[in-house]
Amino acid sequence: MEAAGKPVVNLISKPENMLKTVYTACRTCYSADYPIDIYNSVDDKEKMLKLIERVISSGHYSTIEHIQVSFAISNVSRACTHQLVRHRHMSFSQKSQRYVKEKGQFDYVIPPTIARDSVLQEKFIGFMHRISEQYQEFTEAGIPAEDARYVLPNAAASSLVASLNLREMIHLANLRLCTRAQYEIRTMVKMMCAALLEEELWLKPYLVPKCERLGFCDEDKSCGRMPVK
Ligand SMILES: Cc1cc2nc3c(=O)[nH]c(=O)nc-3n(C[C@H](O)[C@H](O)[C@H](O)COP(=O)(O)OP(=O)(O)OC[C@H]3O[C@@H](n4cnc5c(N)ncnc54)[C@H](O)[C@@H]3O)c2cc1C
Repeated sequence: MEAAGKPVVNLISKPENMLKTVYTACRTCYSADYPIDIYNSVDDKEKMLKLIERVISSGHYSTIEHIQVSFAISNVSRACTHQLVRHRHMSFSQKSQRYVKEKGQFDYVIPPTIARDSVLQEKFIGFMHRISEQYQEFTEAGIPAEDARYVLPNAAASSLVASLNLREMIHLANLRLCTRAQYEIRTMVKMMCAALLEEELWLKPYLVPKCERLGFCDEDKSCGRMPVK
């Protein structure tokens, strides 16, 4: 096991007829018709997109909570997953450092700022090896994995299944595609968005950094892409 490389992100579950479902939720609020009749009769994509945009930009977010998507994610650091799990409307099932004992060198992620300097990268790798040796010494002495893991670093690679509804997906994208977000979570969220957009391109205007929706930047330290508020 070695340096883990880029994140691996796959969309493993999403509902059929996502657009129609969101439209039906939006339209039901303003219609005397039964939702099932709205769902069965609508087929005009432009009409659906127009109403959805109107409803979302008015902040009626319950309409996008009906859609749940799931991703299988690997080759990300514990530093990255620790940030992801701060999102309270997401559900997670993550590879356990209690139940999965590392046999030999654990996988780890090297930040590009270190990887681009061969001397620093060598030092980083050497340090991972020393941590691994210490971890092995503990587990071989009978220390349970759940305690030996205390020496494992933020760089240790992890895997998880992460699920969230469309409202939270848009929120996640708005926050974590911002250049103020840390590079690894930004890369991972970009890949989550790309995987979803491959199937649901109509979401493109929503899966963007928050400044694109706001029309301005509300961060203290702006990257300069948009005018500061
Ligand atoms: C660039 C960046 C830097 C960061 N730096 C730090 C840092 O230095 N230290 C740190 O601790 N964290 C940091 N964070 C994490 C940040 O504080 C949030 O915990 C994280 O982004 C999750 O965002 P959220 O709470 O909006 O989203 P979610 O937890 O995904 O919730 C979505 C929305 O639901 C609502 N909500 C959820 N729970 C509650 C609640 N209990 N009460 C009321 N409303 C709720 C809010 O409207 C919230 O925006 C950083 C995040 C970013 C993007």
